[in-house]
Amino acid sequence: AGVLLVQVRVAQVSEKHLLVLAEDQTQARRLEAIRRDFVVNVSHELKTPVGAISLLAETIEDAADDPTAVRRFAGRMQSEATRLSALVHEIIELSRLQVAGALGQPAIVHVDDVVAEAVDRARTTADAKKVRLDIGGQQGTQVFGNRDLLVTAVRNLLDNAVAYSGEASHVGVGVREHEGLVEIAVVDNGIGISSAEQERVFERFYRVDPARARATGGTGLGLSIVKHVAADHGGDVTVWSQPGRGSTFTLRLPRAEVGDAGGPAASVEP
Ligand code: ADP
Repeated sequence: AGVLLVQVRVAQVSEKHLLVLAEDQTQARRLEAIRRDFVVNVSHELKTPVGAISLLAETIEDAADDPTAVRRFAGRMQSEATRLSALVHEIIELSRLQVAGALGQPAIVHVDDVVAEAVDRARTTADAKKVRLDIGGQQGTQVFGNRDLLVTAVRNLLDNAVAYSGEASHVGVGVREHEGLVEIAVVDNGIGISSAEQERVFERFYRVDPARARATGGTGLGLSIVKHVAADHGGDVTVWSQPGRGSTFTLRLPRAEVGDAGGPAASVEP
């Protein structure tokens, strides 16, 4: 169902014959709308930290003879700059994922490696909050795809789990195989997400609580990056959550078959 947008071109090829070309424009229009929204959102999101930085610079100028104030405002300027840089980094990452062939040269990837590296990278923020990070149920599973992107995806889930959990809480990441799929589940006991919000958290720039997300350095792009990485690998990402009890984000990816080692019609890796 739905409305088809069709572009029709007509050419007279002979006295009696018309050539009619009908091209479905629905997908093209939809992509165009997504791109337009993205540009509007990006400009809006970039203006916030840039505005804050310039305001802070002015404030510092005015407070030049108060060293304590200067230090405080300089610190805030620094954290806005860090946020800006994270935002730019994620925007670039997301744009890269939106073009075809984002996987580069897909290869066999060991899920245990991906999880270990993501945990390693999330460790600093977790330690700062005294959050314990545990890995469970590794199975030597392999998928076919891009290792760096998969590390980014799992890391985004871990960073969120830590950011939206209390001090000294516990975050777990587990791997299992289920019906030919690899499931990487990131479990936290944090603030949780209401069912109405669960549908929206994967949208670009969507944040349940923008003020809180800003305080935690969130950009609102983390989960849309995860969603893109999952889709590019032929998988998906889902969330289970209860407000006040915690959340579980599950990344599901097709398991690699041996023949995947060199791509389609491939040589088999030992
Ligand atoms: P952000 O950079 O703001 O974390 P994300 O796209 O990663 O952006 O997440 C979008 C929003 O989803 C977050 O702002 C937060 O409100 C919510 N969210 C994501 N992960 C969790 C989690 N583990 N627990 C609670 N809320 C979460």
